[in-house]
Amino acid sequence: MKRLILGMAVTAAGLCIAGDYPFQPAEMTNVAIRAGFWYPRFETNRVVTVHVDFKKSEETGRISNFELAGQRAATGFRGIPFDDSDVYKIIEGAAYTLSTHPDPKLEKYLDDLIGHIAKAQELDGYLYTARTLGYNFTKDGRARHGRMMGPTRWSYLAHSHELYNIGHMYEAAVAYYQVTGKRTLLDVAIRSADMVDRVFGPAPTQLKETSGHEEIELALCKLYRVTGEERYLRLAKFLLDRRGQGVLGESKVFAQSGDLVKGGELGAKGSYNQNHIPVTQQREAVGHAVRATYLYCGMADVAALAGNAEYVKAIDAIWENVVSKKLHLNGSVGARHRGEAFGANYELPNERAYLETCAGIGNALWNQRMFLMYGDAKYVDVLERVIYNGFLSGISLGGDEFFYPNPQASRGGYRRSKWFGCSCCPVNIVRFIPQIAQFAYATRGDAAYVNLFVASDAKLDLKGGRVALSQETEYPWKGLSRIEIGDIWGKTASVQQQGRFTLNVRIPGWCVGRPVPSDLYVQTVPGSLKDFTVKVNGQPFAFTPQKGYCPITRTWKKGDVVEVCMNMPVRRIKAHDAVVNDRGRLAVECGPILYCAEGVDNGGHVLDKVLAADAVFTPTTCNVLGNVYPAFTAPAVSLRRGLTSGVRKEATTLSLIPYFAWCHRGAGEMQVFFPTEAKDENAASDFKMSASHCFPKDSLGAMCDGVLPKASNDESIPRFTFWDHCGTDEWVACEFSSPEEVKGVSVYWFDDGAKGRCRLPASWKVQWRPAKNAPWQDVAAEGPIAKDKFCTIDFPQPVKAQSVRLAIKLQHDWSGGILEWRFR
Ligand SMILES: [Zn+2]
Repeated sequence: MKRLILGMAVTAAGLCIAGDYPFQPAEMTNVAIRAGFWYPRFETNRVVTVHVDFKKSEETGRISNFELAGQRAATGFRGIPFDDSDVYKIIEGAAYTLSTHPDPKLEKYLDDLIGHIAKAQELDGYLYTARTLGYNFTKDGRARHGRMMGPTRWSYLAHSHELYNIGHMYEAAVAYYQVTGKRTLLDVAIRSADMVDRVFGPAPTQLKETSGHEEIELALCKLYRVTGEERYLRLAKFLLDRRGQGVLGESKVFAQSGDLVKGGELGAKGSYNQNHIPVTQQREAVGHAVRATYLYCGMADVAALAGNAEYVKAIDAIWENVVSKKLHLNGSVGARHRGEAFGANYELPNERAYLETCAGIGNALWNQRMFLMYGDAKYVDVLERVIYNGFLSGISLGGDEFFYPNPQASRGGYRRSKWFGCSCCPVNIVRFIPQIAQFAYATRGDAAYVNLFVASDAKLDLKGGRVALSQETEYPWKGLSRIEIGDIWGKTASVQQQGRFTLNVRIPGWCVGRPVPSDLYVQTVPGSLKDFTVKVNGQPFAFTPQKGYCPITRTWKKGDVVEVCMNMPVRRIKAHDAVVNDRGRLAVECGPILYCAEGVDNGGHVLDKVLAADAVFTPTTCNVLGNVYPAFTAPAVSLRRGLTSGVRKEATTLSLIPYFAWCHRGAGEMQVFFPTEAKDENAASDFKMSASHCFPKDSLGAMCDGVLPKASNDESIPRFTFWDHCGTDEWVACEFSSPEEVKGVSVYWFDDGAKGRCRLPASWKVQWRPAKNAPWQDVAAEGPIAKDKFCTIDFPQPVKAQSVRLAIKLQHDWSGGILEWRFR
């Protein structure tokens, strides 16, 4: 890959060019993943996901938007204005796959697509197909307000994603140029960045705003690295520094209704997009988690490239805040559905956790940068936690189905989807997986770093030459890794077969009693340094850890072997007492892998299972769609409650599987943190929910989760909706394990008012049946319909029902949903 090396200098523009991160990641082309855990994931990404993503982009208009914009068509835009970024992300991922697996057919496809993108760029460098295709105006020429774009360029930066889109284009352009040497997309990026640099800046005639969704800042740093054009670095810093200095396009923010809004709740000046205070003053992770993590990446990059101590101070503090108070055990971030945002300190719900796949990716990318800044293994601990857990659950084993949220518990409403209207996650996955090769190794001067235990061949560039390493491991299933030194080249590129350098082998935090670099999660029986041993050429190697590494300095010869042995027992994880949702509960990990229990292995139910703190685990295996993984069983207690009967306790066996593999065998219950004591409140209900349709981001379980809404527009709690079905006849049903006496039902309807597309239903009635396949019987006429309270139908007389069903007619053109459903 092409990389421009920049020296330390103060430029004519007065920007101090510091060089770059002191630690350098391995070149992607220099790491070959050839076996083990990641190999099938890389192959599936290359062979399946890249193509699935492109196909879906074709079907949904994402590709034709570029073609039509290239023809200067005035209409025909399909999708949402930031869909352009999806295509850029797939190009970036596809480029990475080409770097390891040349594929003329794929490259031709990319060249053609890039040709369309180049044509879609307007003459002055502006590129945003939604505007070129007139999406900002309705057919009769009126400005279309509030559809994520303003009537004119840059007039709605809070939500238009104009700068976010092209940020992803720059990343794709740099990747494609580095892999193929072809400049077409890079030239598009340069024209675009030059235009943004003309429009945004400190001069009186320039815009002083910044992007509502960060991304362009880190992308400009990448563009700067390949072009050496300092204006891009300066522009990145300008856009970072404008954050918190004013309102993003406030005077031009419109509601969906077309009314002018001066800073809504998710508005332009606020923590939602980290625009509440200047970035140098920020000390806590707040707002939209993907935006936030991309912001911190951009700050780290600019700090590395231009030497900014204020940025470093800010992201150091924010990182401490995240790892000690806002990190989920699966490594992901962004606890809240509302605003897809970080929650308060210690707000770490399990079932209600959002943990968007993109936020996991953002967290990993940020921690990789923190490592490159400091060379401390604690950042890799966080990165590793994400990639094996909260990120990996986001993509199906088959590579063609995706999670948007990655919760740590489920009542059964979750299922991966083939695609989303807003499909940021599937396309982010495709560009993220290949980067894992880069995360595995790093260098600084004459020191090499083994950060991830991945079966791979690597060539690492050191100050004094180059070294080839070969790593064999069955990690994460076995704690052994064998690292063999291959060829060693001197400075003159001549093979000299020996050389003095330091090989730093990461000591994983999970292995030595620090599952995360804070007190947020601890092991009940913590590991210690005794659990990590190293041999060099068969001889035990004594070492003093440095920044989480075992440093081995010697004159290495080809054929030298380092054997790393990590003790890998099952460990119980306890969250900090301040985490209310995990109180009295423990999770289960083995090595870097988080385990969970799924209904399919446990008689349909896991939320009711109690796992004693001293439960003994028996190793076994699980088979998930033909993939056999190490698994565990343990004795447990099941707590079940009928709708009207009390709680029953039964001895049972709990089966656990790797968390990333959940939800491949149908939707069902899932749990990560298990109660250790049998309390009635942990009893699960003996009934099963189903519906004619459930929006993938919502859940069936939300209807009977006992979480009461504050109002019909309460978006802070889990909900069930029929979105995107509008005006249709729908139903939801509840089936009991055995017939129950029911006297009536109460329904709290979801209605998100002016903000959304869900309304109270047009009408509804209740049906019931005495047995599974019996015909449905109407109980009463239509029920009452009102906002902000339970709407109740009392049955004329009690019925002994196996199932109860609500038959619901949605209002014409509107969808609908339920926040809570109760039985009497
Ligand atoms: Zn996403």
